[in-house]
Amino acid sequence: MILYILKDKKDYSLLKEKLNQSSASFKLLNLYGKNLILAWPDQYVKNISDESIEVAIEVKKPYVLSSNEWKKEPTIVNIGDVNIGSNKIVVAAGPCAVESEEQVEIVAKAVKRAGASLLRGGAYKPRTSPYSFQGLGEEGIRILRKVGDEVGMPIVTEIMDTRDSFIFKNYVDMIQIGARNAQNFSLLREVGKLGKPVLLKRGLGNTVEEWLQAAEYILFEGNGNVVLCERGIRTFERSTRFTLDIGGMVAAKLMTHLPICADPSHPAGKRELVHSLALAAVAAGADMLLIEVHPTPEKALSDAEQQLTPESFEVLMNRIKSLARALGRDV
Ligand code: PEP
Ligand code: MN
Repeated sequence: MILYILKDKKDYSLLKEKLNQSSASFKLLNLYGKNLILAWPDQYVKNISDESIEVAIEVKKPYVLSSNEWKKEPTIVNIGDVNIGSNKIVVAAGPCAVESEEQVEIVAKAVKRAGASLLRGGAYKPRTSPYSFQGLGEEGIRILRKVGDEVGMPIVTEIMDTRDSFIFKNYVDMIQIGARNAQNFSLLREVGKLGKPVLLKRGLGNTVEEWLQAAEYILFEGNGNVVLCERGIRTFERSTRFTLDIGGMVAAKLMTHLPICADPSHPAGKRELVHSLALAAVAAGADMLLIEVHPTPEKALSDAEQQLTPESFEVLMNRIKSLARALGRDV
């Protein structure tokens, strides 16, 4: 794979012509304000030169646009005035699933007071069993949007189906791709086309490299606003619901320019573990946290055992703030 970074305002029609004649596959895109051409396979493009090219980088890795090989400076994903990937650690909090307007309102006010800057909540829920609560769907998005606007918090929620993309484009501030859809390539392409900020979970059985390749699908459509979210992987270990791969998260940080989020709730599976996993992720350099909070967790319609009460979330936020300060970061 050759990545051409093109000179500003240069005409590259001649380069396109040369690529067309070379029988290489290529894609022209604008990412982070740069005009780029990706061209492959290498043997067809190796000897192409053109004066519109600023640099040509031969990338050997299977992820290119998400790699920090060409973009050294960290990417900051902006959602309104919330910036993910800066010195400030961004916290998204809210219920696993939207259950009612009242429920979301109670949680939103509490998490905002405690210092969260994004409101999360699932409307379309990926459930292992078809007999479990599936989420409120469109009505759930409407509730999130209404409460988000009321309290002044951008909303993040999961998309499961490309057929819902109109709703997500119009009502959602950050689109989550869940662990179970982390390699749903048509969905990845679709959110790439929507151009909205994306929170991309790591698949339960995906390597770090596969996770970055999933992000690659979104970037390939010209959408560079991707935050990678470590949420635990499936291992032989049963004392936690999933194994939060702190090592993989740190490794990813060295491989990509994209910001990294950690979700301590799903790997914990039990609320008693959530504080420690959240703090471990902050210590390991997470740029963002995604935490489940419910007004009455034991009555929750999904993930009842891992959701924090608003009171416990506030205690956690204070602990995160102290740790962030010690690390020279803000919350
Ligand atoms: C969620 O965030 O509610 C969720 C379903 O997460 P995951 O896709 O990581 O299981
Ligand atoms: Mn959940």
